[in-house]
Amino acid sequence: MSGALVTGGARGVGAAVARALAGAGLRVAVHARADVAAAEAVVKALPGDGHAVVSGDLADPEAVAAFVAEAVAALGDVDVLVNNAGIYTEHPLPTTSYAEWIAEWRRTTDVNVLGVANTTWCFVDHLRARSRGPEGARIITVGSRGAYRGEPTAPAYGASKAAVHSLTQSLAVSLAPLGVAVTAVAPGFVDTDMTSDILAGERGDAIRAQSPFNRVATPDDVASAVAWLATPGAGWASGAVIDLNGASHLR
Ligand code: NAP
Repeated sequence: MSGALVTGGARGVGAAVARALAGAGLRVAVHARADVAAAEAVVKALPGDGHAVVSGDLADPEAVAAFVAEAVAALGDVDVLVNNAGIYTEHPLPTTSYAEWIAEWRRTTDVNVLGVANTTWCFVDHLRARSRGPEGARIITVGSRGAYRGEPTAPAYGASKAAVHSLTQSLAVSLAPLGVAVTAVAPGFVDTDMTSDILAGERGDAIRAQSPFNRVATPDDVASAVAWLATPGAGWASGAVIDLNGASHLR
């Protein structure tokens, strides 16, 4: 049975992805930054057995190496990496001091870009070391519609998601000779802790109206696409960044 590591799996999109992958028969290592109790609650509710909890800050390269190794040790093997964890913070240029601007860019880049790059490196290192080799593995990263549409109040976030889309395309080519398929999804707004204040506030109705379905995504809308990308039949999607935005942004 295959194993999957889902970063930021203790809530939101990541928890839905963990449920979808476990429902498809995979053993899942649910990663949390620090809230191990929340990750344990997610694991407890997953179908099947053999799941695990791992933890560590994505911004810390040593912690990343440690939690990828923990996931491999706990599951015995990991075939699927879902780079889901990420942060979104608002720092519109006209009202942000230079010190805040520098700090926001640094933190967002550390987590959303370097965290994804480092987790991916450690995962591929595991694939190359295992006896049956990397063939058939999957790397799926949660990007964002914001990479295309812009994020005027969170420009570091938008740039970080454009970076991981580009990383996906680079790795789809460089890892193809190893038999590894690399994809990303680019959701529009999803109803999670990340967006609950925005969606409940005065901008909420306008955001829902961006989609002709007049709603935002549920975490399950994203998880079902990620679960499909993890299936053996989806390997030819490698290199794709799949829009999941309810026709709110066509390109
Ligand atoms: P969320 O509810 O805020 O969850 C974010 C997850 O990331 C949490 O599990 C969190 O863990 C983890 N995380 C944050 N910083 C971390 C760090 N430094 N190290 C390790 N883990 C960290 O967000 P979400 O909406 O589910 O977002 C999941 C992904 O979807 C993100 O990549 C986000 O950018 C993307 N996305 C979201 C939306 C949206 O509208 N919600 C739209 C497009 C794309 P802790 O709880 O332990 O901090």
